[in-house]
Amino acid sequence: MRFDFHCHSHYSDGSLSPEDLAIYANEREISLLALTDHDSISGIAELKSYIAKNNFEIKIINGIEISALSDFGEVHVVGLGIDLEHPLLKDKLALQIKKRWQRATEICEKLAKLGVNHVFQAVEKQVKEVATRTHIAQALVELNYVKDKQQAFKKYIGKQGKIKIAKDWMTLDEVIDLIHQAGGISILAHPTRYAVSNRKLSLLLESFKAEGGQAIEMAYPSLNKDKSAWLELQREKWGFMASSGSDFHYPNLTWSDLGKFPTLSHHIPHVLNKLT
Ligand code: AMP
Ligand code: MN
Ligand code: MN
Ligand code: MN
Repeated sequence: MRFDFHCHSHYSDGSLSPEDLAIYANEREISLLALTDHDSISGIAELKSYIAKNNFEIKIINGIEISALSDFGEVHVVGLGIDLEHPLLKDKLALQIKKRWQRATEICEKLAKLGVNHVFQAVEKQVKEVATRTHIAQALVELNYVKDKQQAFKKYIGKQGKIKIAKDWMTLDEVIDLIHQAGGISILAHPTRYAVSNRKLSLLLESFKAEGGQAIEMAYPSLNKDKSAWLELQREKWGFMASSGSDFHYPNLTWSDLGKFPTLSHHIPHVLNKLT
C-alpha cells in the first residue's frame, strides 16, 4: 500500500490544485494521503470531493503543517486526523495566516529599502491563501532579481540572507495543544532539517516530548543512512511514534516525489496504525 503523510497544494506553497494533486496521487497509486498545507486546511474538502466525484480509491487523512516557535528556533509541526470544523483551530489558523500577510508586507518593505521593488504586487498575484517565503522567492525570480528560488533564499530571505525575518508564530506548546484539542496526532516535521547541532536537536526532541508531542517524521527525502540511524535512537529514547511523508510541493524533481521515501522497519511504531 502506498501512502504519503506530508504534502502541499496551492493553498500554501505547493504548485498543484487539490484536484491536480488527486490526479497525481491516483497516477502514482497512492491509496492513503494527508494534505498538510502550511497553516491551512482549505484544500482538504476540495481534495475529498474531487476524489469522490472521480471514484478514485484514495482515502484522505485531514492534515496540516503548522509553523511554531520553539526554544531552538522555528519548527514545523504536522497534525494528522484533525477535525476541520474545530472552532479554535479555525480561529488560530486565521490569525496565523493574517500574521503571514503582515510578515510578507514587512519583508517586501525591507526589500524595497535595498532597491528591490514591486515584490508585494507579484506575491499577491500568486498567493491563494497562505503567503510564504516560497512566493516571495518566486516573485524575485519573475522580477529578474535572482536566477532561481534557491538564489532568492540564499541572497535575501534564507537564514543567511540580507533580510531579517520576524517569526511571529504560535509557540510549540500552543501548537501541540491545538492539534490535540482538534483531535489530531502531533508530529515534528523533518527533524534533521532545522539548522541546529545534534545536541540541540536532541534537546528539541526532549522538549517536544515534554510538551506532549506524539511522533516524529522518520522517512523523508534528504535523510541519509547515518541521520536515519541517529534519529531512530532518538525516537526510541523519547518514545515517539514515527511518520513518513515526502513533503511534496511540485512535480518534476529528481530527488523527491509524492509517495517517495524510504520504508521503515515494521518494528517501528507508526502513526499509520493509529490512523487506519
Ligand atoms: P515560510 O513558511 O513562509 O517561512 O516558507 C518556508 C517554505 O519555503 C518551506 O516550507 C519550503 O517549502 C521553502 N523553503 C525554505 N527554505 C528554502 C530554500 N533554501 N530553498 C527553497 N525553498 C525553501
Ligand atoms: Mn513549503
Ligand atoms: Mn516544513
Ligand atoms: Mn512541508
